[in-house]
Amino acid sequence: RNNAEKFEFQAEVSRLMDIIINSLYSNKDIFLRELISNASDALDKIRFLSLTDKEVLGEGDTSKLEIQIKLDKEKKMLSLRDRGIGMTKEDLIKNLGTIAKSGTSAFVERMQSTGDLNLIGQFGVGFYSVYLVADYVEVISKHNDDKQYVWESKADGAFAISEDTWNEPLGRGTEIRLHLRDEAQEYLEESKLKELVKKYSEFINFPIYIWASKEVDVEVPADEDESSDEESSDSTSSEEGEDEAEKSEDEDTEKKPKKKTVKETTYEWERLNDVKAIWLRSPKDVTNEEYVKFYHSLTKDFSDEKPMAWSHFTAEGDVEFKAVLFVPPKAPHNLYQSYYNSNKSNLKLYVRRVFISDEFDELLPKFLSFLMGLVDSDTLPLNVSREMLQAHSSLKTIKKKLVRKALDMIRRIADEDPDEFSGKDEKDVEKSGDEDEKKGQYTKFWNEYGKSIKLGIIEDATNRNRLAKLLRFESTKSDGKLTSLDQYISQMKSGQKDIFYITGISKEQLEKSPFLERLKKKNYEVIFFTDPVDEYLMQYLMDYEGKQFQNVSKDGLKIGKDSKSKELKDSFKELTKWWKGTLKTEDVDEVKISNRLDNTPCVVVTSKFGWSANMERLMQAQTL
Ligand code: ADP
Ligand code: MG
Repeated sequence: RNNAEKFEFQAEVSRLMDIIINSLYSNKDIFLRELISNASDALDKIRFLSLTDKEVLGEGDTSKLEIQIKLDKEKKMLSLRDRGIGMTKEDLIKNLGTIAKSGTSAFVERMQSTGDLNLIGQFGVGFYSVYLVADYVEVISKHNDDKQYVWESKADGAFAISEDTWNEPLGRGTEIRLHLRDEAQEYLEESKLKELVKKYSEFINFPIYIWASKEVDVEVPADEDESSDEESSDSTSSEEGEDEAEKSEDEDTEKKPKKKTVKETTYEWERLNDVKAIWLRSPKDVTNEEYVKFYHSLTKDFSDEKPMAWSHFTAEGDVEFKAVLFVPPKAPHNLYQSYYNSNKSNLKLYVRRVFISDEFDELLPKFLSFLMGLVDSDTLPLNVSREMLQAHSSLKTIKKKLVRKALDMIRRIADEDPDEFSGKDEKDVEKSGDEDEKKGQYTKFWNEYGKSIKLGIIEDATNRNRLAKLLRFESTKSDGKLTSLDQYISQMKSGQKDIFYITGISKEQLEKSPFLERLKKKNYEVIFFTDPVDEYLMQYLMDYEGKQFQNVSKDGLKIGKDSKSKELKDSFKELTKWWKGTLKTEDVDEVKISNRLDNTPCVVVTSKFGWSANMERLMQAQTL
């Protein structure tokens, strides 16, 4: 085209496109769900803007927030149109030519090795999946702030953008035209498209229509000699024509004009989805399968893995909202890397069914940022800016309730896991049907998200005890498995007051520690804390169920009752005095007789409120 401006794709995009074009065995169907998801995002955006400015929606058809699909067999073209926010020229260049999100390289590498495109939507490059089925793509777009433009590319390393002077004006929104490859002609079949929309786009909250063909009977004047009685009686049986037909029959049967019926193909918009949002339904009416599918569409993770757990509830009272929370099967690879500098929660916020944001910081505390899901609030105001919403007082209440429900949900993973210690009598434990599926789930959870629970204990004083219940660790008695504080307490020796633990680099190293000699011999259980975060954790976790924690490498250890201690102390008084004098006061606070050892003659113990040796080691590593 004359007025086209040429651009080159960013190298990474080109590479990605090459891979897509050559992924012969990939599931090509996914392009449709990516396009629909983009259309839905664009509709969400304009709807959000319209909350504070109604004008942006425009008038007439332009204001209809919907998605339309059309098939053109002659041109071998599939087109998808939305009345979303649209793209300016600049948007087209930026969004459909470069990759913004980081981690895309990793995705490209993964794709090259596995050929699995299922995660494409998660990486912010879903659009390019159109080249699975098309060799030429046009994107026509109209944004309120700009003219209508056409973006086009044959995936040959370049794309072109022209001001659109030849297509029908869109009003607002985007139309994507896929010129299908020879091998992808199946996507011109209505039935195929209908099936795919049903399968992938069940949870899209905007109506999706297809320009569907319909065979209808129409009456045409019959040729004199061809007409027969049969045909004319046929035509009068059509429902709409009935009254008139009867009348005319009554009046004059003879003079009735001769007609015949022929099949004709007409087209009309057929609605493909029902937009009743899943979270508005009653949880008892939603099947497990539906939750899993909803999870996949929400997270754009279309791998086969199921979420570990979910919770769907309605909060009532001063602040009303509905929410669905999921524990994803795997933690994102950078969960803890970005922990301290990001506040991003993965919950989508809706206000009265209107999507507001998926980057809302105030919904969940950082330590629960691994959860996915959504919140739809009836209490929050709709027509205010994001900033004002962010500061709204109900958010605190919502957050508090979400945390509670999230912790209940996590607790349930443990409670339903037959491998977990429940402390209850076997017969009191409710058995559910899918026990095999739940077996070992909590260990899985712990391996993925244990650190988050620990960070929660450090950060969230209100829920500290609830979180401590979720804590898992190994101990001198756990035999390589994970155990819990409840289990520990249930096995405490009579007369044992404190919960014993020791911190260090590894279990293997700790097992040899002289601090454990006596405790082991006397059959006390000692918890091994070997994660660097554990040291911090134990500065916040003072007690559990009325029991104090005692670091066995610190002063203050009491092992049962020792009747001889006073006697011993006295008889060794001279020796301890001598030691104290020999060692300088800067080096040791005290020299004491203790009953913590068995074979080892003496050991250096740290003071009760100071750093443990392990903490000292950690701090040194940090300053280096
Ligand atoms: P993602 O949707 O994850 O951002 P995509 O590759 O699917 O990644 O799309 C890239 C970007 O292109 C989107 O973020 C959006 O800005 C823009 N885009 C794609 N499709 C549309 C559309 N139908 N309307 C408006 N913008 C769109
Ligand atoms: Mg997308």
